[in-house]
Amino acid sequence: MNIILFGPPGAGKGTQAALLQEEYNLPHLSTGNIFRAAIKNETPVGLKAKAFIDNGELVPDQVVVEIVAEELKDSKYENGCIFDGFPRTVFQSESLDALLEKKGAPACEVLALIVPEEELIQRVLSRGQGRTDDNEEGMKTRLGVYQNETAPVLAYYKSKEKVKEISGIGTLEEIFDRIKKAIT
Ligand code: AMP
Repeated sequence: MNIILFGPPGAGKGTQAALLQEEYNLPHLSTGNIFRAAIKNETPVGLKAKAFIDNGELVPDQVVVEIVAEELKDSKYENGCIFDGFPRTVFQSESLDALLEKKGAPACEVLALIVPEEELIQRVLSRGQGRTDDNEEGMKTRLGVYQNETAPVLAYYKSKEKVKEISGIGTLEEIFDRIKKAIT
């Protein structure tokens, strides 16, 4: 099973992906986490990605698609995975579809978390994870990028009838219950 947890910054994708990982015994693939680890370890990918991330902009598609293709070679992804923060552009979605098709893997189901913008800003500014991009300016940029570049991903998957929309308002458990119901 391949699942894309989709939503704007602050929608709770990471938290819900961690819960899903446990429930369904599927690995969690977060491109944001891969980039943060690469920056910490000062790898070539980390050096390429750092300025984009600090500015709240998207890392270029080619870089992102390459790290995901590389990551998916790991045998732990044999039975699928939960994508979090990827794909973020239509180009990335098309590349992912092509990659999965080549592997003979099932296409992705998209679970879209719906949260109003005011709530997203509040959540991100109060989450206190010490992320370099979790400030007011960075969040404004990320929301703009989401609207312009990432929201079209949803239309792309809707045209393939792959999307389930889930309210991302409520307690973690309430949201998780909705997600589980949407999967089964
Ligand atoms: P996240 O942890 O998913 O919020 O990602 C943090 C930052 O990493 C984003 O604001 C982007 O700068 C970068 N990033 C993560 N995933 C992607 C992606 N799929 N495409 C482009 N940039 C990404």
